Amino acid sequence: MEDVREIFGCNVFNEGVMQARLPKTVFKALKKTMEEGKELGKDIADVVAAAMKDWAVEKGATHYTHWFQPMTGITAEKHDAFISPAGDGKIILEFSGKELIKGEPDASSFPSGGLRATFEARGYTTWDPTSYAFVKGDTLYIPTAFCSYGGEVLDQKTPLLRSMEALNKQAVRILEKLGKSVSRVTTTVGAEQEYFLVDKEMYAKRKDLILAGRTLFGAKPAKGQEMEDHYFGNLRTRVSGYMKELDHELWKLGILAKTKHNEVAPAQHELAPIFATTNIATDHNQLTMELMKKIAEKHDLVCLLHEKPFAGVNGSGKHNNWSMSTNTGENLLEPGKSPKDNTQFLLFLAAVMKAVDDYAELLRVSVASAGNDHRLGANEAPPAIISIFLGDELTNILECIEKGEVACATTKHFMETGVSALPTFVKDTTDRNRTSPFAFTGNKFEFRSLGSSASIAAANIMLNTAVAEELEQFADRLDNATDVEAEVMAIIKETVKNHKRIIFNGNNYSEEWVEEAAKRGLPNLRTSVDAIPEFSSEKSIKLFEKHGIFTATEAISRTEILLENYIKTINIEALTMLEMAKKEILPSVLKYNKEVFETLKVKQDLGLNINLEKELNYAAKLSNLTESFISKIDELDQVVIGVKNHETELETAKYYREYIFEAMQALRSVADELETIVAAANWPFPTYVDLLFYV
Ligand code: ADP
Ligand code: MG
Repeated sequence: MEDVREIFGCNVFNEGVMQARLPKTVFKALKKTMEEGKELGKDIADVVAAAMKDWAVEKGATHYTHWFQPMTGITAEKHDAFISPAGDGKIILEFSGKELIKGEPDASSFPSGGLRATFEARGYTTWDPTSYAFVKGDTLYIPTAFCSYGGEVLDQKTPLLRSMEALNKQAVRILEKLGKSVSRVTTTVGAEQEYFLVDKEMYAKRKDLILAGRTLFGAKPAKGQEMEDHYFGNLRTRVSGYMKELDHELWKLGILAKTKHNEVAPAQHELAPIFATTNIATDHNQLTMELMKKIAEKHDLVCLLHEKPFAGVNGSGKHNNWSMSTNTGENLLEPGKSPKDNTQFLLFLAAVMKAVDDYAELLRVSVASAGNDHRLGANEAPPAIISIFLGDELTNILECIEKGEVACATTKHFMETGVSALPTFVKDTTDRNRTSPFAFTGNKFEFRSLGSSASIAAANIMLNTAVAEELEQFADRLDNATDVEAEVMAIIKETVKNHKRIIFNGNNYSEEWVEEAAKRGLPNLRTSVDAIPEFSSEKSIKLFEKHGIFTATEAISRTEILLENYIKTINIEALTMLEMAKKEILPSVLKYNKEVFETLKVKQDLGLNINLEKELNYAAKLSNLTESFISKIDELDQVVIGVKNHETELETAKYYREYIFEAMQALRSVADELETIVAAANWPFPTYVDLLFYV
C-alpha cells in the first residue's frame, strides 16, 4: 500500500522542494515573487530553471511545456524537449531562466475574438510563479499567462489574477480602517465538480456523445432518478476503482481531492477538493477535469463533463464555494462570535450583497454557455435569475439593522446585541437551500450556477471584480469618515436598504419567484444569447477598466468569442442530429415500418375473420410518426441552410437560438416518441437504459 502522505504532491515543484533545492537567497527571492508579485531577476530565474529541470528529469521528464488557459475554456500545451546538442554528437539537457519565464507558442489558432489577425499570430506565455510547476507524464508543466504581441490578454488566468489583486487592494484598505494589520487578502475557492461516467463501448456507438458531448436523442428511461436511490449510494465496483485511481493521480499533483460520492442521477458522480487560493483552485479544477477524462478510459469508461448529457435526467454543474481570507489566517466571511468581528463580517457581507445586486448580469454572463442553458431554470439547477440566499438568521439580523433596532426578536440561535448594536449568533449549518444560485453556507458563499464543463475562471473574475468595486466604494467612505464605526454601521444599513431585493430565501424553482423577481426589477437573462451581450455593456466595461481587468477592446472580443462559441456548439449539434436522423434513425425506422406492414399484409391476405383494427391503428401511428419525423428533418435542414450572413455575431446567435435550436427540439421530440414504439432490435444506437444502467 502506498502511503498517501508520501504520494501527495510528489510530482509538484512545491515550496518544500524549492527550499531543499534552491540556494537560500534564491528561495527567498522566489518566495517574495510568489507572495507579493515582485519581479524575478534573470540570474535568479536561471537558477530556479536549472533546479526545476534537474528535479523534473529525476521524475522522468524529457520535455517542458508552458501550460496556459486560452479562451477555449480548456488548457493548452506545446511540448519542447530539454535536449541541446553538446557538440560531440551527444546532447545535454538544458533549461534556461529565459525559457522558464517566457514562451512563444504559435497563437494563430486560439480564439481571440478579432483581437489578432492570423498574420500577426504571435502570442506570449509568461510564467505564473504563484501556481506551482508540476510533472505529468514525461513533461514538466509550467503554469503561464497568455497574451498577444500587442499586449492584449488572450487567456483566463491573467484577468483572474488581476481581479484577485483588485479585491486584495480594496479589502486591505478596509481592514486597515478597521484597525487590522493585514497585508494581503486572497480569495479562496473550493470547486465541487459533477460528472457522468458511461460505458466506453456504448459511448462509441453514439455519434452525438462523440461529437457534441451530450445525447441529442433519447427517450426517458422507465427508471430515472425518481427512486432517489443513487444519491450517496453504493459505488459500482468499476466506478470505485476509477475514483480511487483518480484520487491518487490528483494527490500526486498536489490537488486536495477530498470528497467523492454518487450524485442524484444514475451514473452521475461528484468530486470535491479542499478549497485553495482562487488561481490555484482554477488550475486544479482544469487538471481534475482532464484527469477525470483520461483515467476513465483506463477503466473502459468515458467521463462526460457536459452540463446536460441526458434530457430528463439531472444535469451537471460546478459549485464555486468562495470566500476571502487574510494572510493572518482569518476568513472574512466567518460570522464569528464577538460583536466587533461581526461588524467586520457584516461589512464584507454587505459588499458581496451589493456586488451581486449591482452586477447580477455579469455573474449571469460568467456562467452562460449553450450547454448550461439546458440547466439554468430547468428545475434542477438555479434559475437564470441571480439572487442570494442568506438564511433566516442573517436576513433577520440585516432587517434589524435596517430598522435600527438594537435588540432583535431573537430566535433560539442568536443572542442579545453588544456594543456595536449587533447581535451575535450561532452559525447555522442546517439551513440549506439548494435552489438558490448564490447561497451563504456558514462561512462562504456557494455560487451554484456554473456549468460542469466550464473553467471556473470567468465566474471568479466577475465575482472578485464586482466585490472589489463595492469594497472600494466602502473604503472611500471610511477614508472620509470621522467616526469609522458609525460610518460602518451606516454603510451596512444603507446597503441592506438599497439591496435587500437581491435576497431571496424561498424556492427559486417556483413560478412565483420568477414573477416576484420581475417585480423587484431583478434581471432575468434566460438564455446565453440574452446574457452574453452584458459582458461588454457600458456598465461592465466601466467596471473592468476601472479595476484594470479588461480593456474595452478585450471585453468586446470576449463577447464575440462567447457568441461564436454558442453558434458553433449549436451548429455542431444540429449537423450531428441531421446525420443521425437521416443515416441512422430513419433507415431503421423505415425497416421497422416494412416489417410491421408486411406482417399486416400477410394477415389481411389470409382473408380470415380476424379483427385487425388495433394493429392497423398501431401501424398508422408508426407511419404518421415516420412521416412527421421526415418533415422535422426537412424543417431543421431548411433552417440550417437559412443561416445566411446575419450582420453580427449577436444576430446569428439569436437566429440559432430562435430557429435552429427550436427545430432541433421538434425533431428530437418525434424521434424520442418513435423510440418508444419501434422494436429495440431496430433502434440504431444504445438507449438511455444502456447508457445509464451499465455494470
Ligand atoms: P457544504 O457541505 O456546505 O457544501 P463543505 O464543507 O462540504 O460544505 O465544503 C464544500 C466546499 O467548500 C469544499 O470544497 C470546501 O473546501 C469549500 N470551502 C470550505 N470553506 C471555504 C472557504 N473559506 N473558501 C472557499 N471554499 C471553502
Ligand atoms: Mg456544497
